[in-house]
Amino acid sequence: MSTIEHFINGKTVKGRSGRYGDVFNPATGEVAKKVSLANKEEVGQAVAAAEAAFPKWAATPPLVRARVMFKFKTLIEQHMDELAAIITAEHGKVLSDAKGSVIRGLEVVEFVCGIPHLLKGEFSENVGTNVDSWAMRQPLGVCAGITPFNFPAMVPMWMFPVAIATGNTFVLKPSERDPSCSVRLAELAKEAGLPDGVLNVVHGDKESVDAILTDPRIQAVSFVGSTPIAEYVYHTGAAHNKRVQALGGAKNHMVIMPDADMDQATDALMGAGYGSAGERCMAISVAVAVGKAGDALMERLVPRVRALKIGPGTDPEVEMGPLVTKTHLDKVRGYVDVGVKEGAKLVVDGRDFKMQGYEKGFFIGGCLFDDVKPEMRIYKEEIFGPVLSVMRVPDFNQALKLVNDHEYGNGTAIFTRDGDAARAYSTQCKVGMVGVNVPIPVPVAFHSFGGWKRSLFGDMNAYGPEGVRFYTKTKTVTSRWPTGIRAGAEFIMPTMK
Ligand code: NAD
Repeated sequence: MSTIEHFINGKTVKGRSGRYGDVFNPATGEVAKKVSLANKEEVGQAVAAAEAAFPKWAATPPLVRARVMFKFKTLIEQHMDELAAIITAEHGKVLSDAKGSVIRGLEVVEFVCGIPHLLKGEFSENVGTNVDSWAMRQPLGVCAGITPFNFPAMVPMWMFPVAIATGNTFVLKPSERDPSCSVRLAELAKEAGLPDGVLNVVHGDKESVDAILTDPRIQAVSFVGSTPIAEYVYHTGAAHNKRVQALGGAKNHMVIMPDADMDQATDALMGAGYGSAGERCMAISVAVAVGKAGDALMERLVPRVRALKIGPGTDPEVEMGPLVTKTHLDKVRGYVDVGVKEGAKLVVDGRDFKMQGYEKGFFIGGCLFDDVKPEMRIYKEEIFGPVLSVMRVPDFNQALKLVNDHEYGNGTAIFTRDGDAARAYSTQCKVGMVGVNVPIPVPVAFHSFGGWKRSLFGDMNAYGPEGVRFYTKTKTVTSRWPTGIRAGAEFIMPTMK
């Protein structure tokens, strides 16, 4: 059985810790590969490589760095099918969806191809007599990224292209559940001309994460994953004087107003609730039906959820693949059991779904609850599976209150034909990303991604302009070239004249 190894200083480096993780094929349920799990020393080796590569890379003109990104972009395009196949093999999602996620990551690479423009500073002429002042943004040094299993290409690409294009070097610790894609991306970046040591990949679990969080050579950490770990990463990283952005979990609501186009809303809920088997941080897991929208929606939803085409992600006819691991499958099934015990109405029960020929795969059918109440665990907690909860509220204000009272605030959507309701919702909801008749409002690469409340710790969003700010620090220069009479020593706080 092959082992997925680290990629340090431009080379494959065999793990020495003696610890390995299992990487499954979620469709068959078999262990397909092993992955080396790094210890502190191995993480240290990657950090040392990144630290050594930093001075030269930081001094490389942004235009030259952008040219590497251009080549990287072309290589990703050429290897698109291969990358999607790697994702489907280890994550389980359908190939077309895997490809879509690579494209969303690629868009960040396209964004940073314009890095010379994005790094332009500010200049103020004559801030005092014959004194000029300018501000520039410089890289931080070694940065690290810790990423979740659900987007093995896209989420790493939210981070490292921006960090590298701005002149930093990077250590990526991808999810140990589907680690191959990160290594392939690092190999392609090397082929694009990225110098050795600028992008390193180490695999691991908590031990490697702790090594990253406590290493004094690392200046900044970007994290994406579940909320408890995000909070831990944020506190531990900050306690070690690092800049940290830690994106966490979600419970995304879609509000359906009675005037919405119900067929459109149903289509939107099917894709956003069951696409990628609900394993998306921007998945819609709660449909909030306002007034008479409830019955109209359920009438359409129920047959659609029952008819979901489920199977291995490699089958082009399939709409929903398996979950990532048996542990995750058990967790999702467990939540459905909890919902039934709590008294929610399980209208479609996918718990016993079996895929013929793939009996050991991590499959579950789509599940649909009606009459879910705010105090239920299935409402309060993130399930991260193909389980949609429908809640019924009498009016807009109740819908808004529900959304604003929830501990998470990643994404949300409103479906309506009423511009006034849409505007009021967008303005008043306490959520970081809002869709108006758009179910999954993931911002494009030239905006930035981030939730509110316990969906993001730290004050800067991922990628886009905020990503550029996160990976750089400001330096302001005040400059005078004196001619003629010298003023002599000044003992008062200098003021500009
Ligand atoms: P996870 O929190 O289990 O793992 C994320 C990363 O943290 C992995 O690299 C993992 O190795 C590491 N990790 C796990 N346990 C750790 C521990 N005890 N100490 C230190 N590090 C640890 O998340 P996951 O299951 O891989 O991904 C799913 C979660 O990610 C969901 O909660 C989802 O909402 C969230 N997510 C959020 C966003 C976002 O943008 N907000 C995007 C994608 C996924």
